[in-house]
Parts: sequence; structure tokens; C-alpha cells
Amino acid sequence: MTIERKQPKPKKCRVATCRASFVPSRMGQAVCSPACALIDAPKNQDKARKAIAQRDRREIQVRKEKLKSRADHLREAQTAANEYIRLRDAHLPCISCDSMPNDNDLMTGSRWDAGHYRSVGACPELRFEPLNIHRQCVKCNRNLSGNAVEYRIRLVLRIGAETVAWLEGPHEPRKYTVEEIKTIKAEYRAKTRELKKGQAA
Ligand SMILES: [Zn+2]
Ligand SMILES: [Zn+2]
Repeated sequence: MTIERKQPKPKKCRVATCRASFVPSRMGQAVCSPACALIDAPKNQDKARKAIAQRDRREIQVRKEKLKSRADHLREAQTAANEYIRLRDAHLPCISCDSMPNDNDLMTGSRWDAGHYRSVGACPELRFEPLNIHRQCVKCNRNLSGNAVEYRIRLVLRIGAETVAWLEGPHEPRKYTVEEIKTIKAEYRAKTRELKKGQAA
């Protein structure tokens, strides 16, 4: 019985000015000769540098993540939730004053907030509850401290009296772990992506 040793397939030299055909004598050999290896080296160094820079960025990211406080995570999750709400309600008027978004607002989203019906301070249990957050004009949210009476009137029309009563009722205190907060942020980001996909289609 004879064993056929497979000859490695010939490759083309990676050096653009060479491109000679050669049979690799070791794994991963990409150039035909030591001369071409010299020409190829700077390109390799560049690749290595980029790989190192990328690894450094990742490590910095990991370190930053570890330095974040619970409050930082809560803030980030709230930002993600609010972004989702603004997008969800993009075509609805302000929850408190019926002012409508104009085309410019739709593009920039700048004049609009996501306003909590029960504020984060008053009812932290509902800070991520989508039924408790609605798109609101900056004037109502910031200058009129939420414009709560008007908010309630339109909230009843939008989600029903029963749901408003539920919001206004007692809620179990919640102590989220950092992992849970991260999950909330990830979920809201995913919901935002879904909405954007739907609107683009
Ligand atoms: Zn070559
Ligand atoms: Zn308003």
C-alpha cells in the first residue's frame, strides 16, 4: 500500500508587486521569498498595531464598565428607556398640551422629552414603566414641572382610567441589581432598534 502525500497547493505571493506563484513550505506562508517577506513586513506591523489598539480599546471599555456606579447604570438605562419612549410617541402630541411635533422636530427630536407621570423621585418603582412615561414637550416637562394636571387628563384618554389608577396606586419597592439594570438598558435599546427598523421599512 502506498501513502500518497498531498503536495501543498501553490499560492500567489501576497506582495502586490510580485504576485509570483509559490508552493508554501510552512503553514500560513503568504510571501514567496525572504525578499518579499521584507517588503511585506511593514504591512504586517500595521496590522499588529491595529490589533493592539483594538485590544487596548476593549480593555479600556471593560475597565470603564467596572468603574461605573449603580447610579451611572440607572442613568444609562433611563436614557435608553426615554429614547424608546420619544420614538414610540414620535407622532403623538405632547401628553400635557397637545402641541404637535413639526417636521423639524421629527428630524432632530430636540424639543422633546420623555416625561414621567409619576416622577422618578416620587415613585422610583415606575421609573422604567413605559405606561408611566410619555413624550412631552420641553416646556411642559421642564418649565411647568411636568404639567401634571393636564398630563393626567390626556393620560386617561390614552391608556384608560383603570391603568392610570394602577399607576397612582401603591407599588412594590424595587431594588435592582446592576445586572438587572443592564438588562433593562439592553431591552430598551433592542426595542428602539426594532422601532427604527419598522419605521425605515
Ligand atoms: Zn514574492
Ligand atoms: Zn407640552
